Amino acid sequence: MISTNPFDDDHLREECGVFGIFGHDEAAAHTVLGLHALQHRGQEASGIVAFDGQHFNAHRDLGQVADSFASESVIGRLKGHAAIGHVRYSTTGETALRNVQPLFADLEFGGFAIGHNGNLTNAYTLRRELVKRGSLFQSTTDTEVITHLMATTRGSIIDRLTHALLQVEGAYSLVALAKDMVVGVRDPLGVRPLVLGRLGNAHILASESCALDIIGAEFLRDVEPGELVVLDGSGIHSLRPFGTTERRFCIFEYIYFARPDSVVEGSSVYEARKRIGAELARESPVPADVVIPVPDSGVPAALGYSREAGIPFELGIIRNHYVGRTFIEPTDHIRHLGVKLKHNTNRAYIENRRVILVDDSIVRGTTSKKIVEMVRSAGAKEVHMRISSPPTMHSCFYGIDTPEREQLLAANHDVEEIAKIIGVDSLDFISIDGLYRAMGKGRRDPDRPQYCDACFTGDYPTALTDQHDEQPAQLSLLAEMA
Ligand code: SF4
Repeated sequence: MISTNPFDDDHLREECGVFGIFGHDEAAAHTVLGLHALQHRGQEASGIVAFDGQHFNAHRDLGQVADSFASESVIGRLKGHAAIGHVRYSTTGETALRNVQPLFADLEFGGFAIGHNGNLTNAYTLRRELVKRGSLFQSTTDTEVITHLMATTRGSIIDRLTHALLQVEGAYSLVALAKDMVVGVRDPLGVRPLVLGRLGNAHILASESCALDIIGAEFLRDVEPGELVVLDGSGIHSLRPFGTTERRFCIFEYIYFARPDSVVEGSSVYEARKRIGAELARESPVPADVVIPVPDSGVPAALGYSREAGIPFELGIIRNHYVGRTFIEPTDHIRHLGVKLKHNTNRAYIENRRVILVDDSIVRGTTSKKIVEMVRSAGAKEVHMRISSPPTMHSCFYGIDTPEREQLLAANHDVEEIAKIIGVDSLDFISIDGLYRAMGKGRRDPDRPQYCDACFTGDYPTALTDQHDEQPAQLSLLAEMA
C-alpha cells in the first residue's frame, strides 16, 4: 500500500517554480530540464504549454518532472519554439489535475497560458466579484483570477495583463505564453524571484539561476520588482507598468527555499547561508567539540558557524537521499521510525563530544526533537542547537506553505521552552538584525525593511484582504467535488 509523504520533514515548503523560453526549436525539452532543476520548489505536479506557431500543446501531470515528462512521445507532442512550465506544491486550491499549471484560457485575442509562483492575498475577494459578474471558474487556484480579469477588459495582451495585475495584491512571479510571445512579470515588491537568461538566440525566464545552468544558458539579470518583460522575435522588451516600487524580497529564500547553487537578487545563496552561519556563531557562541549540520539545508550555515567559531565541522548526520515522498502506509510504529529512514548518525563524530547542531529553521519542532534524540543516543555529551533563521512566529501568505499559527512552535513558546521541548542543552536563533547584517544591510530598519521577513516579524508588506473577508461558499463546494 502506498501513501504520499507520511514523514513530515517539518520545514516550510516553497510552493512553485516557473520557467519560460522563447526562440528555441526544442523549447519544451529545455523546459523539462529547467523544471527538473526547480523541482525543489514543488514536487506535487508539473506542466508545460508550448506554442508551435499555430497551436498550443499542453501536458500536465501529478508527480515529479522526471516521471511526468519521461516519455519521448510526450515531449514530441509539445512542439514549438516557445514554452512555459510550472512545478507546483499546492498553493491555493486542492491538488487536482485541473489546478496543475500552466493554466490555459482561450481569450478574445487567442490562447493564453500562465504559470504563477507566489500567492495573491485578495484572490477570494476578486473571485467572488468575478463570479457575481458571470465568470465561470475551472480551477480553485488564485492564478485563474488573473485570466478572468484579463477576459473582462479590452486592449492588447499586455494592456489586459497589466490591467489585471493592477487589481491583485500579494506576491507573484509569473510566466505567460501567448501567440508569439513569452511574458514574465514580478510583483511590485519582488517577493518571489525571477531571472532572465540567454541561450544562443533564445531568451529564458526562470525562478532561479540553477534552471539556466542546467541548460547551459547565460544568466543575464534578475527581472526587477514591478518589471514586465516580453520575450519575442525581436528580443527582450522591458516595461514598468506599476510605477515606482520598493524591494521586499523573501529573505527566507536565502535561508532555505532557493537552491544553494543559485544566485538570487545578486547574491549567491550558498555564500549568504555561510555568512548567516558566521553571524550566528558571533551572536550565539557555545563551547563545543564539533559543529554538525542537519542535512542538507543546514550545511552551508554550519560551515559558516564552524569557521567563525574555530570548531571542527563534521557530517555527523547522514541523509538517505533515496527516501521518496511515497512510502509504505505509515503505521504508528513506522511513522516513529520515519526520521531514521531519512537520517542516520555518524557515531564516530558524536560519541563523547559536545555537539552544536545547526539547522535552518524550527517549524513544529517534530523533526528537531527526533534528531536530538538520535544524536543523544549516539553518545553525545552535550547537544546545543543553533538556528540560522529567527523564530518562525507568523504564517506566510505569499506562496509558502506554513502551518496554522497554533502549530508554529515559536508562536506559542519562548526559546527556553522550545529548548526543553526538543531536548537540547541550549538553543538559539539568529536575531533579525543579525540576519540583516549577514545580508550586508546593517540593522533592520523597521520603517523601511529591505526584505519581506513577515514570518519572523509579522510585518506583512501588502494588504491581506482575504484574511478579513468571508470566503465564498462555492469555493469550498468546488474543493469537495474535486
Ligand atoms: Fe518569505 Fe516569510 Fe515573507 Fe513568506 S512571510 S514571503 S516565507 S519572508
